[in-house]
Amino acid sequence: MDYPGNLIVVAAPSGAGKSSLVKALLELDSHVQPSISHTTRAPRGQERHGREYFFVSESEFDAMVRGNAFVEWAHVHGKRYGTSRKAIEERIAQGSDVILEIDFQGALQIRQAFANAVLVFILPPSREELRARLERRGEDASEVIEMRLRNAAVEMAQVSQFDFVIINELFERALFDLKAVVHAQRLKYTAQRRARANTFESLNIP
Ligand code: GDP
Ligand code: ADP
Ligand code: 5GP
Repeated sequence: MDYPGNLIVVAAPSGAGKSSLVKALLELDSHVQPSISHTTRAPRGQERHGREYFFVSESEFDAMVRGNAFVEWAHVHGKRYGTSRKAIEERIAQGSDVILEIDFQGALQIRQAFANAVLVFILPPSREELRARLERRGEDASEVIEMRLRNAAVEMAQVSQFDFVIINELFERALFDLKAVVHAQRLKYTAQRRARANTFESLNIP
């Protein structure tokens, strides 16, 4: 199915700065909407149900899997995370671009389901900086941070499967790069053909 909105999938090891970058992009660009995932992990301090995630029990998650409610889901850091059909299909059908902050397993499933999705991988500038950011964020217990750092190596080994790579060293530079990727999707032939149909018509382009 060809939708008017683009799907932008952003993956990164925990602490690379994915959420900060996506949050900044959403504030700058009202044509981009977030996909709110479901997760079985507990909310962190400031997180609210329906804003960062829909926080659900294991049994609620099971019921959604059985009901085919997810376009993708995966085990990540010992919990389950999934993107519901509802989170994306209505919005891309209405022409919004939708950005998904998901892990690499989910990103690859999204590409299977939506051939036009663009996959972006965010890398930290170094392993030391990745650890420092996770510690500075101060939201996860030390054993959770250790597990996330171990998983980071496995996740980063998948980067070759992605379309674009952004290194989040200077935040503003990385944000500029992410904006450029989103903008480039809107310049693709099929997107321009739809968005600027009148121009194509007046130029008599078949
Ligand atoms: P969350 O949604 O609550 O996790 O918020 P963020 O991850 O976006 O930000 C957490 C904190 O880090 C806030 O105090 C931000 O102002 C700060 N922060 C965000 N981006 C940067 C950055 O690029 N550099 C530094 N040094 N701090 C940042
Ligand atoms: P993720 O969503 O990938 O787990 P976050 O967006 O929560 O990562 O970022 C992890 C931490 O690193 C946060 O405290 C954030 O403020 C900080 N951070 C993000 N980008 C940068 C950057 N370019 N330089 C320094 N700190 C950053
Ligand atoms: P966190 O608990 O730090 O918010 O997220 C942990 C990991 O789960 C991150 O790699 C994040 O991208 C991933 N994640 C969040 N939502 C989803 C989702 O809906 N599907 C998948 N596959 N991964 C997700």
